[in-house]
Amino acid sequence: MKRPRIVVGIKWVPNTQAVRFDPKTGTLIREGVPSIVNPHDLDAIELALKTREKYGGEIIVVTMAPPGAEEGLRHVIGMGVDRAILVSDRVFAGSDTLATSYTLAKTIERIGRVDLVFFGQETIDSSTAHIPAQVASWLDLPYIYYVESIEKLELKENKVVVKRKLEDRYEWYEVELPVVIGVAMHSNPPRPISLTNKLRAVTEKPIEVWTNKQLGLDPRCIGLRGSPTIVSKVTWQPEIPRKRKIYQGNPKEAVKWLIKHLEEEKVLP
Ligand SMILES: Cc1cc2nc3c(=O)[nH]c(=O)nc-3n(C[C@H](O)[C@H](O)[C@H](O)COP(=O)(O)OP(=O)(O)OC[C@H]3O[C@@H](n4cnc5c(N)ncnc54)[C@H](O)[C@@H]3O)c2cc1C
Repeated sequence: MKRPRIVVGIKWVPNTQAVRFDPKTGTLIREGVPSIVNPHDLDAIELALKTREKYGGEIIVVTMAPPGAEEGLRHVIGMGVDRAILVSDRVFAGSDTLATSYTLAKTIERIGRVDLVFFGQETIDSSTAHIPAQVASWLDLPYIYYVESIEKLELKENKVVVKRKLEDRYEWYEVELPVVIGVAMHSNPPRPISLTNKLRAVTEKPIEVWTNKQLGLDPRCIGLRGSPTIVSKVTWQPEIPRKRKIYQGNPKEAVKWLIKHLEEEKVLP
């Protein structure tokens, strides 16, 4: 029986909670900032694991990133994915979303038969949400986003039924395979890593590194040369100063105190 082959794209991102902004230079202070797997991508990994539990098959994780991202790949192997590919080469540096999605699409093509391609909804560092749609476009595949669950997968019939979550309703779609799926954030809380799985990263060496030697992409289509986007200016929301007044006393008096202060500050008319 045919088993599904699932690719999941994840991004290795700076932990934005630890990133600070230098208002003088207008740049991000990245020194000493640890990187993590983009948290929304762990929802995609979790959905892939649930799909494999139900239908069997193989999960291959792909990331285009500098060598340090191997740590993130070991983390998702610890969650239970089968294989991981780190697409890493100096020629990919400076990629905008177009060049990134092109490189990822060509990587997926090189993997061979793939039934489902999962991505997170967006990243916490750039949050363009461009990549999944652009990868689908390069591969000429259907794309469906905000997906919460795989309701039915019929490889023989070549179709999948997915449930997607919108603000005010759920929708169910039947889509032809292969398909690119953007997984809704917070929809599939990730399981913890297991030591047995994490040891696989050492004993079975399931992480491969692919450079442009393997992919053979035209240098004009990748990295800085393949990136037509120009970020002309970045501004940062200034920190809102707070007065931080704390009232300690009984709740009845606290309400009176709060109203008086809100009136004084002209928050209440
Ligand atoms: C002109 C320009 C130059 C840039 N130069 C650099 C640079 O030098 N270095 C740099 O780090 N960034 C650079 N960037 C940013 C880089 O283009 C984006 O970080 C990248 O394309 C992903 O976009 P995003 O974070 O908005 O992802 P989104 O589109 O928000 O991501 C959605 C989902 O796609 C998947 N995904 C995203 N990125 C990857 C990836 N790399 N591998 C696998 N899956 C992925 C994840 O599942 C993610 O949840 C540059 C951007 C521009 C515009």
